[in-house]
Amino acid sequence: MAEAPSKPPFASPAIPAMLNGSSRIQFNCYPGIACFNACCKRADITLTPYDILKLKQHFNMGSEAFLKQYTVPFQMDADGIPGVKMRTNDDGACLLLDPEHGCTVYPNRPIVCRYYPLALLNIREQDSSNPKEAFSLVKEEHCQGHQEAREISIDEYRVEQGCADYDQYNREWYRLILKKKSAGPGVGKPSELSLQMFFMASYNLDMFRRFVISDSFQRNYQLPDSFYQSITQDDLALLEFALKFLRQVLFGERTIEEVKDAWEKRLEERTKIWEIRTQAAVQAKAQTESAELAADPTPNSDT
Ligand code: SF4
Ligand code: SF4
Repeated sequence: MAEAPSKPPFASPAIPAMLNGSSRIQFNCYPGIACFNACCKRADITLTPYDILKLKQHFNMGSEAFLKQYTVPFQMDADGIPGVKMRTNDDGACLLLDPEHGCTVYPNRPIVCRYYPLALLNIREQDSSNPKEAFSLVKEEHCQGHQEAREISIDEYRVEQGCADYDQYNREWYRLILKKKSAGPGVGKPSELSLQMFFMASYNLDMFRRFVISDSFQRNYQLPDSFYQSITQDDLALLEFALKFLRQVLFGERTIEEVKDAWEKRLEERTKIWEIRTQAAVQAKAQTESAELAADPTPNSDT
């Protein structure tokens, strides 16, 4: 079964052949080529957590502000796993495109833009729990890079496009999605809360940081002070932790050690809150009834 978390910039059939790192492609792209920017004018860019981390750092923005200004949400599958795409203008062009000078975030451009015209596929082979990476080539009429004489292997192309860090941080996230998709109905549809956690931990790192350093989180999970020090400053350390946390949220794996009896304590706290709420509701009802009686002592009298 093949899944493609990484998609080409806009919809187009990929060449069906399955390629690997040593496969060679004929392609070149450079400023000055006749079709320069044509691909960014109809952009359909799905973003990964690492893409968002790099872009929010590029703009020196918080993740919430970045998501609001530059992205649109969508559902990645029938279970409602949330994804985000780059926002475009009304003509479909990427908001980060300068029509004259090209990509305005080029050193921090998303992984889909780096791989193009390749699509990265994560394939889960039968009897294997580790997905295998493969590639397919996307050929679109407007892209003249395929007519260029240069031949290059896919591994060389990945180096040229600076994919290594992106691949390293995206790999675990792709695995999570692939595992969720191939788990079938046995694992079930994630709860609304799990989907919200997935969105926050994947895309809204600043909100996730506030969640992790909150008193209630620290009461439930056993993590050393050095961990909290590192994630306060370091977005990458936080992203690595977020991916671990998602395994717990989506698959119930015990990836983060809980404080002893944390579940029992939570239950006890919630029981107390329910009791207080019930008592308050009973008291409010009694007060309303006695106030009604005082206002009209014979409400049902026929005389
Ligand atoms: S991020 Fe840059 S390379 Fe990617 S579609 Fe937008 S302008 Fe083009
Ligand atoms: S060669 Fe292809 S990838 Fe490069 S600018 Fe032209 S359309 Fe975009």
